[in-house]
Amino acid sequence: MNRHLAIFGASGDLTTRYLFPALAHLHEQQRLPDDFRVTALGRGEMSPEEYRGSVGEWLAGYAGDVSEESRSRVAALTGYRQASVTDSGELGEALGPPEEPVTVYLALPPAVFAPAIEALSGAGLPEGSRVVVEKPFGESLESARELNRLLRGSFAENEVFRVDHFLALQTVQNVLGTRFANRVFEPVWNHQHVERVEVVWDETLALEGRAEYYDSAGALKDMVQSHLLQLLCLVGMEPPLSLGERDFRNRKAEVLRAVRRLSPEEVERQTVRARYTSGTIGGEEVPAYAGEEGVDPDRETETFVRVTLHVENWRWAGVPFVLRTGKALGEDRGEIAVHFRPVPHLSFGQSRDPQPNVLRLQLGPDRLTLSVSVNGPGEGFAPEEVDLGSELAPQELPAYGRLLLAVLEGDPTLSIRGDEAEESWRIVEPILEAWGEGRVPLREYPAGSEGPEPR
Ligand code: NDP
Repeated sequence: MNRHLAIFGASGDLTTRYLFPALAHLHEQQRLPDDFRVTALGRGEMSPEEYRGSVGEWLAGYAGDVSEESRSRVAALTGYRQASVTDSGELGEALGPPEEPVTVYLALPPAVFAPAIEALSGAGLPEGSRVVVEKPFGESLESARELNRLLRGSFAENEVFRVDHFLALQTVQNVLGTRFANRVFEPVWNHQHVERVEVVWDETLALEGRAEYYDSAGALKDMVQSHLLQLLCLVGMEPPLSLGERDFRNRKAEVLRAVRRLSPEEVERQTVRARYTSGTIGGEEVPAYAGEEGVDPDRETETFVRVTLHVENWRWAGVPFVLRTGKALGEDRGEIAVHFRPVPHLSFGQSRDPQPNVLRLQLGPDRLTLSVSVNGPGEGFAPEEVDLGSELAPQELPAYGRLLLAVLEGDPTLSIRGDEAEESWRIVEPILEAWGEGRVPLREYPAGSEGPEPR
C-alpha cells in the first residue's frame, strides 16, 4: 500500500467534503498503515497547524459519525505545503526527497489537470508513484486524448486512476452481483426479453455555488459522459472472465465501443435538454439557474438531460438505453430499471394489458425490487402486480473511502481506463455538436418539479 497521499487542491470542496471524511472512515476501520501520511498542497499561505485545525473542523462537519479519535488522528497525520501545483520545482520540493512512492490526488478544477500532470512529470516522482485524476476527464474527445498522452509520458496505465466514484457505490456493484451470481437473470438479459433499460439520476440539489465549474460543463458532460455511461456499461457488458481489472475493464470498453454515435437527426429526436427556473424544494425557495451568481444565461447550460442510446451488438440490438439526470428536481431518485417485455399471451383473458416485469436497483436507500404479476385476491383469475424486494445493507465505507483504498492499494479495477474515457467522449460529442448548432431547443422546468417531462 502507498503510505504517502498528496492532495493537490488543499482547500477545495472535494477535499473537504469527501477526501478527508473518507480517510477518517478508513482510519476508523483500521485500513490505513500506522505510518500513513497526507501532504496537502494549496496556494494559500497557512501553517501546517492552521491547516490541521481546518481538517478537524471539516471532519466534525462531514464525518461526525466517525470517532473523535480517528478524526484527530487523520488531522494529526496531515501536513500542509504552500506550493504551485503547476511548477515542477515547487512540487519536487513540497513532496520531499524522492524516496518512497507517493499517490498524487488531483482534486483540482479540470482546467488545471493538464498543467499539473506536466509539472508532475518534471518533478521526478519515485518509482511506484500513482496519480488520481478526477472527473470530468477532459472536456472533449480531443482534450481527453491530450490528457491521456500527457499521462502516458510519466505513468504506466495501471498507475493512473481516473475516478468515477459511482463505480464504488455498493448498489452499483450490485448490478454485477445480481447479473453474474444468479442463474435466473442472464438467460433473459438480452434484446429478446428486455424492452428498454433506464438509468436515472435525479437530484434535488441545485447549483450549490458551483457555477464556476458547472456552468461550463452542464448535465451532459458532468453526469452522462462519466457516471451514467459507466452504469450503462455494467448493465450492458458481457460476463467477464473475472472481476479483475483487465477482464472487467475490457468488457466495459466493449460496450462503449458498441454504442452508436447519434446522427444530428437522432439527437433532435432522442435527446431533451432543459434548465430549471425558480421554484420550491422541500419548502425552500430555489432561484432560477439563469439568475445564479457566476452563471452566464446566454451559455444555455442544461441542468437536465435525457438521452436515448443504442448498444449495437448481438445482445442488445434494438433495445433503447434511456439515460436521464437533472438538478433541482422534486425528488432524489437514483435507479437502474430493466423493463422486460410483456408475456406474449395472457391466458387470463385480455381484460387488461399484461404488465411487464421490471427489475429495479435503487440507490439511497439501496434497494433491489422485481415487480412480478401474480393472481389477485378476488374471485377467478385476474393478474395483479407485487414487488419482491430487499433492502441492501448499507455500505461499510463511503464511496470515496472504497475508492481511496483501491488507489492506495494500487487496484485500478474501479477506475476508468484511458480508452474508456475516450470512447465516452466519442458518444457524447455529436450530441454537444448538434446542441451547439441549435437543433434541440433548451426547455425549462420549475425547480422542485418532475423536470420538463413526466418520469
Ligand atoms: P474547487 O473549485 O473547489 O477547486 C479545488 C481546489 O483546487 C481549490 O480549492 C484550490 O485549492 C485549487 N485550485 C483552484 N484553482 C486553481 C488553479 N488555477 N491552480 C491551482 N490550484 C487551483 O473544485 P472541487 O473541489 O469542487 O472539485 C475538484 C475536482 O473534483 C474537480 O475536477 C471536480 O470536477 C471533481 N469533483 C468534485 C465533486 C464535488 O462535489 N466537489 C464531486 C465529484 C467530482 P487551493 O486554494 O487550496 O490551492
